[in-house]
Amino acid sequence: MPLVHAVNVSKSFHHNEVLKGIDLDVDAGQVVCLLGPSGSGKTTFLRCINQLETIDGGRIWVDDDLMGYSDRDGKLYRLKDKEIAAQRREIGMVFQRFNLFPHMTALQNVIEAPVQVKGESKKAARDRAQSLLDRVGLGDRTAAYPAQLSGGQQQRVAIARALAMQPKLMLFDEPTSALDPELVGEVLSVMRELAADGMTMIVVTHEMSFAREVADTVVFMDGGVVVEAGPPADVIGNPQHQRTKTFLSRLR
Ligand code: ADP
Repeated sequence: MPLVHAVNVSKSFHHNEVLKGIDLDVDAGQVVCLLGPSGSGKTTFLRCINQLETIDGGRIWVDDDLMGYSDRDGKLYRLKDKEIAAQRREIGMVFQRFNLFPHMTALQNVIEAPVQVKGESKKAARDRAQSLLDRVGLGDRTAAYPAQLSGGQQQRVAIARALAMQPKLMLFDEPTSALDPELVGEVLSVMRELAADGMTMIVVTHEMSFAREVADTVVFMDGGVVVEAGPPADVIGNPQHQRTKTFLSRLR
């Protein structure tokens, strides 16, 4: 089974059906970029994978775990909050806004969850945090508070913080869209390295050059459905559907 296996996922907010039967498979080590106009359901779909939203229909497995439910005798039973929290710990998420703890240094931000949630020793967590901050190019800024860091640096700390939980899967929700243009490159290059190191990633982005270079699969969503999916050379380079063509032409 693929690392992520989503089948016929649906989700409504009140009477607004935001996801209308989404299927997605992501093999371990693959990078999938989700593209589509604003309001097409990309963020909602990411949040459903991570159980930040409860789905109304369909099923999502991550690494053979049925997310949010147990499956007995063909019936689905909602897991307890604690069990859902345990599933969520296996998945790293990076948001558009960096959401760092403002009163903690970069290093403290990175060690917080491993120590508080996983019960790791401070020493082990600190050593790994240092190496993760080195990896995102911030090994010399471990004592800085978020307010002393640029947006690009804060986002790199946020990536290190997500990696500190040793996730199976990383979800990125428009990680560069809140950044000044000159800071986008440093975040994308960290993500490129992560992909090259074999991390499984699902990335909502409008960065076409990133999608083109890094994605194994590009998924174009519109109106809560997958319009087309495939290698970037096909979906971006030679789109088959008018909606994809229109979306791409507006970006250029
Ligand atoms: P995208 O990420 O493609 O821009 P979203 O998933 O953010 O799309 O939003 C899809 C639709 O779902 C939008 O119409 C949005 O207003 C609606 N939506 C998202 N989250 C909520 C929520 N918590 N409550 C009500 N409506 C929501």
